[in-house]
Amino acid sequence: MQLPATVIVTGIPGVGKTTVLRELEAQAKAAGLKLRVVTFGTVLTELLRRSGRDTDRDKIRAESIELQKKIQVEAAAEISKMKENEILIVDTHMFVKTTTGLWAGLPENVLSKLAPDLLVLLEAPPREVARRRTMDTSRTRDSVPPGEVEFDVAWSRSTASACSVLTGAPVKIIRNEPGRQVQAAKELLQTIVGKLGG
Ligand code: AMP
Ligand code: MG
Repeated sequence: MQLPATVIVTGIPGVGKTTVLRELEAQAKAAGLKLRVVTFGTVLTELLRRSGRDTDRDKIRAESIELQKKIQVEAAAEISKMKENEILIVDTHMFVKTTTGLWAGLPENVLSKLAPDLLVLLEAPPREVARRRTMDTSRTRDSVPPGEVEFDVAWSRSTASACSVLTGAPVKIIRNEPGRQVQAAKELLQTIVGKLGG
């Protein structure tokens, strides 16, 4: 096995990423695997708070692009220090909708710090994603115009292909069908373990 391994898991907002990753943690524990999930957005929020800013995870994308770029690479440096666990899962986004435009969550300077072994795209049926974005009252999600989810999926895939070229890491697309997060987590764990063994 090649350890430690770093796996970047991305998915557009509302795809069920948090749910699948919580399930993944449980399955890894049951299998006796050491696995840690770190949420990029949480590290960013902590960095901003430490610098004295009152923020929340849904306000970050409205900050200036200069500030976002600065804390993005700082977060990547912090996360790269967490690699002592056998499997490090980085929960993040292929792109972020900033007020300046669509911006890569994993530009080259971030990827080189994270050095992932595998890139994962979690996908779900667009209607289900749109429904979850509208229903999730715990978050301040952006509104969902028709066709937006399909666009976001396509943009994620093309960005993932660029990340694969930059890192040499393969891209695995995993479907998170409604009510099937256990299966999605299982497929993800099998992909990771297979990759480690291979
Ligand atoms: P999340 O909790 O995954 O929804 O992420 C919260 C916020 O963190 C996102 O809306 C982005 O503003 C920011 N974020 C997450 N990952 C990245 C990244 N790789 N680069 C820049 N910003 C990110
Ligand atoms: Mg989430």
